[in-house]
Amino acid sequence: MKALFFLSFVITLSFGFSQTVCNKVLDTIQTEEGTMIIYANRTWEYLEDIDFDGVLNDDLYQTIATDTNYQFKHCWNSDQTFVFSSENDLENMKDTLWLCVTDSNYNKFAIPFDGLITSTFKWRKGRYHKGIDIDLQTGDTVVAAFAGKVRYAQYNDHGFGNVVIIRHYNGLETAYAHLDKISVVPNQLVQAGEMIGKGGNTGKSTGSHLHFEVRFFDCALDPEEIFDFKNKKLKGENLFVHKHLFNYKAISQTKTSYASTSSAPGTYDKSARTHKIRSGDSLYKLSLMYGVSVSELCRINKIKENSILSLGQVIILR
Ligand SMILES: [Zn+2]
Repeated sequence: MKALFFLSFVITLSFGFSQTVCNKVLDTIQTEEGTMIIYANRTWEYLEDIDFDGVLNDDLYQTIATDTNYQFKHCWNSDQTFVFSSENDLENMKDTLWLCVTDSNYNKFAIPFDGLITSTFKWRKGRYHKGIDIDLQTGDTVVAAFAGKVRYAQYNDHGFGNVVIIRHYNGLETAYAHLDKISVVPNQLVQAGEMIGKGGNTGKSTGSHLHFEVRFFDCALDPEEIFDFKNKKLKGENLFVHKHLFNYKAISQTKTSYASTSSAPGTYDKSARTHKIRSGDSLYKLSLMYGVSVSELCRINKIKENSILSLGQVIILR
């Protein structure tokens, strides 16, 4: 009883502190209750379930890992930035998965750094830029987008420089690259909005900025499908995961500007009454961009959810 009380007190205490202060890790100690992380500000917390791989979507992960249609691979690995990105064939998913970005327990989120977006998710200099770049000054505080557990936190010499990757309870991962300093360790639990490092210019980077990625089963998707960076909001509580989120690489490089602007904020006039289908569009994307439900779009346009949209086709929005 005493031990339980002590444990809950420690957890409450450390969580209360961790949301507001810098958590530089001083040491880890093995105890009977498990491994404790000791922070420079004299708070501490226990490492929990090392096998954590997504709590909110545990069922979803099980389904996808065992369903014969998918059998996507996943694991908990603190030494690799991507593990199965080339093996998980998300570009050819047959169904649409409904992923809860937030729920009643994990409903907080944060924009990692409030700065100007200097590069979007698009083809760039002959390779796909699988994240967005946010301008910052070296030393600026970078925070976790959602609550979760740090999977990877170290220097990466393939271009990311100092990078932190967090697995979230909602089943997504986020990556924060080119950091000047890392202030978390693998297996550490973090809250949405908690500092995970200081922004910088490490790795393959010309000028200080944050390279921010969102991934599902090791495959990157456009962060702007989830975050409305301009208005500092989530696009919605739910994310429809379907192949169109991942088949961006198939878009010809010559169509780069066309394709990339289609996902940039501001290029969709929220009050528009019609939309002409561009490369990369889907009903789900239109739904998110214009705030009209997929079923409403289907009803107005007398089409089905799985109808194939053709380039130039005009969709009535309202
Ligand atoms: Zn970048």
